[in-house]
Amino acid sequence: MVEHARYVVLGSGPAGTRGSETLRKRDREARVVVVSDDRYPFYNRILLSKSFLESDDLSPEDVVIKPADVHAAQGIELKPKTRAVGLDPDARPIQLGVPGIDLQGVVVLRPLADAVALRAAARDATRAVIIGGGLIGVEVAAALTKRGVTCTLLALEPWLFGHLAPEEIGVALETIMRSGGVTLELEAAAETIDRDGDNLNVHTTDGREFQADLVPVGVGVKPNVEFLEGTSLADGDGVRVDACLRTKLPGLYAAGDVAAYDDPLTGVRHRVEHWLHAQHQGRHAAENMITDEPTPYSRVSSYDTELFGIPVAVVGAPELAREWVTESDLGGGKGLAVGERDGRAVAAFSIGGANIAEITRQISQA
Ligand SMILES: Cc1cc2nc3c(=O)[nH]c(=O)nc-3n(C[C@H](O)[C@H](O)[C@H](O)COP(=O)(O)OP(=O)(O)OC[C@H]3O[C@@H](n4cnc5c(N)ncnc54)[C@H](O)[C@@H]3O)c2cc1C
Repeated sequence: MVEHARYVVLGSGPAGTRGSETLRKRDREARVVVVSDDRYPFYNRILLSKSFLESDDLSPEDVVIKPADVHAAQGIELKPKTRAVGLDPDARPIQLGVPGIDLQGVVVLRPLADAVALRAAARDATRAVIIGGGLIGVEVAAALTKRGVTCTLLALEPWLFGHLAPEEIGVALETIMRSGGVTLELEAAAETIDRDGDNLNVHTTDGREFQADLVPVGVGVKPNVEFLEGTSLADGDGVRVDACLRTKLPGLYAAGDVAAYDDPLTGVRHRVEHWLHAQHQGRHAAENMITDEPTPYSRVSSYDTELFGIPVAVVGAPELAREWVTESDLGGGKGLAVGERDGRAVAAFSIGGANIAEITRQISQA
């Protein structure tokens, strides 16, 4: 059956939700359809590695931000559990290419359904080996530790956040994690996972073995856009859009994790995987769809979290930084590192509390 709608939004995450709401507000007559392969309507994904996992207090319904009936009341048609197969701009967790990744108890974390399964498995677990030394890995380790699970975190790099942050930041994070009770194994590359009775055994390339009841994997996301390969839309890493979030196909826009956009602030095309960024970009893409005078998207994004009570924030695009300037004593567990590229600030990491709005403003105006 072929259906027609003026606006079809793929995805009910923050980019799709804010985008569809903006389209609804700006074009009151048009049919707005949101197609999502998730079974749940728009929910707070960022809680999945935090309070949702730390205890059983929150039900899946508690993290839903916008129930289906609110979509209907707004005149937005939500089609959950519906997968678009022609155009498929999702950010999927990277599947670790190691034997054993499919074993029961080895869990990646992206949709709410994954978090429900991970939390159920955590109820009976006493030991977890977390694979991944980035944001999701450290958050999952902190949340499981709070549940009383003994956690060992394996990171590929020589320090935490090693793919993005300078060593001083990594070392400060290590202090926080170790003080919280997490065992860290750095430069540890998982090679295979096998099961021996109740034990999952994670083997590393240097011959070590780590035993666990549960193995959460957080090694980043990869946009699911293989079907676009060889077309003008594919970027190799997401959907390629210009500064106004337009693809080369008229009427087709991309926003959020999947959008590799020309960032006017840095002059570099890149993707950002932050919640607020997805909301702002979704709204901006929708505005540009409706107006005759589209404008570039030029906000600086930020991600803030908390590890064992210590605030940690990432501002801007750390992957674009070429040099880092440390502005205070990170060894003392508090401080700021500013990343620069071509002499201008493009990113910052803050540990122990900092004025994120001020840092964001400085990077916007650098
Ligand atoms: C566990 C976890 C914790 C996080 N914590 C933080 C945090 O603390 N702070 C922060 O800033 N960011 C955090 N993030 C990142 C943040 O959640 C993402 O940047 C944000 O969700 C991206 O929004 P989006 O709308 O672009 O994509 P998503 O939220 O991934 O939404 C994509 C939507 O598209 C749908 N979809 C995909 N493919 C198809 C298809 N073929 N057909 C139909 N529908 C499809 C999906 O079902 C989903 O509804 C976290 C991410 C995870 C996984």
